[in-house]
Amino acid sequence: MKKFITKNAEETKALGVRLALTFQGGEIVCLRGDLGAGKTTFAQGMLRALGAEPPYTSPTFVVIKQYKIDNDKSRIRNVYHLDTYRVEVEDVLELSWKELVADKDNVIIIEWPNKMKDIIPAEALWIDFKWLDENKREIVFSRNVDMREFM
Ligand code: ADP
Ligand code: MG
Repeated sequence: MKKFITKNAEETKALGVRLALTFQGGEIVCLRGDLGAGKTTFAQGMLRALGAEPPYTSPTFVVIKQYKIDNDKSRIRNVYHLDTYRVEVEDVLELSWKELVADKDNVIIIEWPNKMKDIIPAEALWIDFKWLDENKREIVFSRNVDMREFM
């Protein structure tokens, strides 16, 4: 377990950048926490670090957003950003979930992962976001990840 406190949205984004820079392909990241806790902000940092092309619009209404990655530093070819706020697990399964998670060229980022936790592989990294005050957020990783020092 590893805990961070960020003091503005940029710091949260930067933490997402640092995490994503460690990715090799096949990572599954579950972002858990209340509305406004910083999940999408963190996801935007990851998307930027992975070379996904903006705009990083919220997938709340599209359920899943695919970003194609053209990058010779890793095998990552797609990043999928899911938001299950408005869907049920069955809908997620219809999105060829099994193929998506089996393909190590993919990175998968999930907001509101709780309702699909039964189908999330055990190796997924879970990250808990907590609103502490207007600008402060607590961000806790389910396991330690070897990242460069956090500024
Ligand atoms: P979620 O996806 O969890 O609902 P968002 O990332 O969309 O949360 O929203 C977080 C909001 O809080 C943004 O408006 C952001 O600017 C603001 N904010 C303030 N301080 C922080 C912080 N330390 N980390 C992340 N967001 C912050
Ligand atoms: Mg969000």
